[in-house]
Amino acid sequence: MNLSILDEIPSSLIERYLGATADQAPAAKVEVKVNGVAHDEYARTLRDIGLSSNPSLALYLHVPFCATRCHFCACNTNVTHDADQIDDYLDTLEREMDLVVAALGAGRPVCQLHVGGGTPNHLSDGQLIRLMEIVHQHFQIAEDACVCIECNPRRASAGQMELLRSLGFGWISLGVQDLSLDVQRAIGRIQSEAVIRDVCQMAREVGFENINIDLIHGLPNQTERALASTLEQVISLRPDRIRCFSYAHAPSRRPNQLAINAQSLPSPTEKISLFGRVVKELTQAGYTWIGVDCFAGPRDDWTRAQAEGRLRRNSMGYTAAPTDYQLACGPHGLGEVGSLFVQNESSLTGWTRAVMAGRLPIAWGHHLSDEDYRRRRVYEHLLCNLVLPASTAKTLGADLESLGRCAQDGLLEMDAEGIRVTERGRFFLESLCAQHASSLDWDSAQWLFPKSR
Ligand code: SF4
Repeated sequence: MNLSILDEIPSSLIERYLGATADQAPAAKVEVKVNGVAHDEYARTLRDIGLSSNPSLALYLHVPFCATRCHFCACNTNVTHDADQIDDYLDTLEREMDLVVAALGAGRPVCQLHVGGGTPNHLSDGQLIRLMEIVHQHFQIAEDACVCIECNPRRASAGQMELLRSLGFGWISLGVQDLSLDVQRAIGRIQSEAVIRDVCQMAREVGFENINIDLIHGLPNQTERALASTLEQVISLRPDRIRCFSYAHAPSRRPNQLAINAQSLPSPTEKISLFGRVVKELTQAGYTWIGVDCFAGPRDDWTRAQAEGRLRRNSMGYTAAPTDYQLACGPHGLGEVGSLFVQNESSLTGWTRAVMAGRLPIAWGHHLSDEDYRRRRVYEHLLCNLVLPASTAKTLGADLESLGRCAQDGLLEMDAEGIRVTERGRFFLESLCAQHASSLDWDSAQWLFPKSR
């Protein structure tokens, strides 16, 4: 990537598309058109899915526990060292799955299982075994399913890697964030490169097929030079995929972020430069830039799918093998079943209370209209595949005028063949799509996606 492209980006553009901090995000973004979905409506939808001959399902499980709370964390989690509390959570999870399969039918095949958190590998070996027993009691994990678990490298061990592999996990996602000590001190998460290297080696030795590493740009004290050093070290580990999230500072919503000195955060312009550096280093190392914030090797499914214009994105991230329905269990889990979105109660207490009362624990739901659903799919396609053919673009009607303004800003190219995202446009792509399709507003307060690492 030619970094001079970043020099040419006027600050007014950065301000217009990325300027608002998470705390300053316009209120309108929060007012997603939630129209209220009762739990019996969700149950009815699950029953309908169960009646279809061969529904393709993905399942997300949220494990809401960590050993400590990182200052930058935006996840739904609880710090605990109480094994009984985690055992109680597993009891409730089992009950929740009982309720789901009572509507859906037991033993439905699942093509993608993602266990996220929180820190799933904060669970003891016995608890991890039980977690997977619960899954197998309720669903049938397809033989070629993508089965992924998020892990904190500091909690991993050779024995745990072996256990996870034996439980059927083939993919592992490691939270690394940044390897600079200055940044690590500022975010309250110290972990050395040696620890990450050991975990990657252990994971490879026991046969994990795919290792993902998560990084974050926009962290306190993060400099381009130090980030380049992090990237060099991460590239030397040869992960299959790398994701680089954008840090959103919102202490009013996430009080743990008050521990971060706002003065030490990079400005929006510096943040763009940091991400530009990520793109440059990773693409030079042979990774392909996927969608907004991911990078994959040349033979990766995502790389091929993006080149062929068939990459998709669901609540668990990008996918080259989309499923019709994504179910979610555990507090805060977000399910996407056709045009219906449902999110579970966020607090452990609220979620537990609902499940123990015998009802599906959703806190809210949202039905997309046919038109919203269609628009969502169109913007999802642009976000993933960076192009829209003319026949699709023309269905965007009134949006074409504001997309034309994005083209004037150099973010898009629009002509008789359709719409293409420019290199400059990729730095603003998520914001551009969110502005045009409220249902893609993943970051709004009521539309939080479980983190997809
Ligand atoms: S960033 Fe990850 S490990 Fe840190 S508190 Fe949040 S969920 Fe836990």
